[in-house]
Amino acid sequence: MASLFDPVTTLPGIGPTRAQQLAKLNIRTLYDLIAYFPRDYEDRTRLRAIADLEVDQPACFEAIVISHPRTAHIRQGLDLTKVTLADQTARLSVTFFNQRYIADHLLYGQSYIFYGKLEGDARGVQMINPVFEPLESPGILTRRILPLYGLTAGITNKILVKAIGAALHACRNSLPEVLPPQVRQQFRLCDAAYAYETIHHPADFDALAVAQKRLIFEEFFIFSVGLAMMRARRTEIPHIPYAVCDISPFLAQLPFPLTGAQQRSIDEIAADLQKPKPMNRLVQGDVGSGKTMVAAAAAYLAAVNGKQTALMAPTEILAEQHHHHLQALFEPLGISTVLLTGSLGAAAKRAAKAAIADGTAQVIIGTHALLTGDVSFHSLDLVIADEQHRFGVGQRAALSAKAGSPHLLVMSATPIPRTLSLILYGDLDLSIIDELPPGRQTIDTFLVGEAMRPRLNAFIRKQVDHGNQVYIVCPAVEENEETALKSAEAWADTLQRTVFPDLTVGLLHGRMKGAEKEAVMGRFSRGEIHILVSTTVIEVGVDVPNATLMLVENAERFGLSQLHQLRGRVGRGKEKSFCVLISDTRSTETRQRLKALCQTNDGFQIAQQDLDLRGPGDFFGQRQHGLPTFKVASLTCDLDTLKLAQEAAANYLADQVPEPDSPLMARIRALFSNHATVFN
Ligand code: ADP
Ligand code: MG
Repeated sequence: MASLFDPVTTLPGIGPTRAQQLAKLNIRTLYDLIAYFPRDYEDRTRLRAIADLEVDQPACFEAIVISHPRTAHIRQGLDLTKVTLADQTARLSVTFFNQRYIADHLLYGQSYIFYGKLEGDARGVQMINPVFEPLESPGILTRRILPLYGLTAGITNKILVKAIGAALHACRNSLPEVLPPQVRQQFRLCDAAYAYETIHHPADFDALAVAQKRLIFEEFFIFSVGLAMMRARRTEIPHIPYAVCDISPFLAQLPFPLTGAQQRSIDEIAADLQKPKPMNRLVQGDVGSGKTMVAAAAAYLAAVNGKQTALMAPTEILAEQHHHHLQALFEPLGISTVLLTGSLGAAAKRAAKAAIADGTAQVIIGTHALLTGDVSFHSLDLVIADEQHRFGVGQRAALSAKAGSPHLLVMSATPIPRTLSLILYGDLDLSIIDELPPGRQTIDTFLVGEAMRPRLNAFIRKQVDHGNQVYIVCPAVEENEETALKSAEAWADTLQRTVFPDLTVGLLHGRMKGAEKEAVMGRFSRGEIHILVSTTVIEVGVDVPNATLMLVENAERFGLSQLHQLRGRVGRGKEKSFCVLISDTRSTETRQRLKALCQTNDGFQIAQQDLDLRGPGDFFGQRQHGLPTFKVASLTCDLDTLKLAQEAAANYLADQVPEPDSPLMARIRALFSNHATVFN
């Protein structure tokens, strides 16, 4: 008997070549085949009369062959076979191109079911190359709902229909029921075999809906069980609770009172730390909501309890910035901070590592290299990852294991719609900072076209004359004739030479070396660069309060959340700040999308719109590695089901854990396969 995870080559008719073609569709195993769900269906169930056929509307009809098929050889490579069909309503002439063999299959006087499309012009109508089946045995090509699959070179729909049929047949008895019976009963879900058969070969659309409902639930259930297990692995580890301690010396150091939301998040963290298990918490707050202070409070609690904190920033620039702020905060409290980044000199690095190893360094700030490099900690017990929406579930699990299950605090500046954060951060408890520090001004945002360029340039100059600085973000690094997008390199050059020769225009992009980037960023923060032209590398976290204007070129190329993030780079100081989206897009939909940004400064609202408009794949763009790939379930449409499945998973896990070699576990491993280490 075939096993679900056997390679596709175990099926008859699938050799190495076809297997390679299928691999392009990510189909490698029998399970991949049967889980390669149709992207659409074509309804061929209804029979029409010939007289009712409409031009360009494919349909099924029953007809008798009323002429002997005749093939004419027109020229090399072109044979035409003609035949006349009829039913009680009309006659129809049909032409087959290069299908000589048709004459052997369409017999004079016999009835067949046809499926084809009428083509017509002034001279009349005819049908070309319809498919057909004998009246007695329809059901493959006609009189059914035909699944339509996503295709690739060499793989036709017919090949997939056949291969999937064969895989279903081979696995008929090994299609395991991964859903516990009580769950199936509670949510009225059909069984696995029926669901898989039906989604590929539905008898009708009601049956299809039943199958889809089950498969979506199944996928979310598997995901939820996997996620809960990962979480359990991290939290079942005992941890010595922190002593309840007084945080007021820390608060007294702050130049401002905390917002209510900051206070609440800190309370939640303090409560976590006093429990006998590791903290796993996400702090989510819009740009500028003051997450750093919340992280600092957590680090303070760790330090008071004699433990080290590692604060990881996504870039060295940001690490330096954090170090700068936190040092000022912690020094008066007698807590030592240390910065460890790749660009430190050898001696400084050695000194930092020594201080980390012997415990003199209490709050250690750096990038991911902190945990992946050869740094040995004295008493690391709290890991804080800042701006970490790029960090997947599995990576968190791996990281936590590596550092000996410390407390984990993730800070995300990307407001993620609640539902999506269930997926991305379902293994974490959530604190939301939904309040900005008082006195923040909204950033006035405008959408303008190329025609405004002269006025824009004047506006830039006005900001600079006023002593402020300007960001200009371009969608591309280099000039590219095909796309006609503004490139950072060329645009910086043009601005410097022709528009602002008397000002300093800087350039920053992701292809520059780390040290070069730091240098440019350093000059910008010191005010030595007036206008910084860059790609989205500045998106994350940099804090230059003197910058008051953000221009985004080809704004249509960016996602809303990304634009919101970019906009967050300005408005960090006391001065009125602006964001100008430049776009000449003619798409009304895109304009609407961009207008939404002009109308609100609320990151969560924007994120939700972004998700609704573009779906989760685009929402995260290229950067998202944490999402498993769902096959049937849609993160935009099926979120109610996700919630139910999560509850069901929690109930299920309350009574048992899946056996390591159970079908459920196999599917969990397959779903999280990009984090393979987690479940091995
Ligand atoms: P985030 O990381 O959430 O984007 P930051 O922690 O960088 O935000 O804080 C943004 C700015 O707001 C910083 O300059 C910080 O000093 C300031 N800030 C933080 N909390 C408060 C507060 N409660 N009151 C006033 N200013 C605050
Ligand atoms: Mg921050």
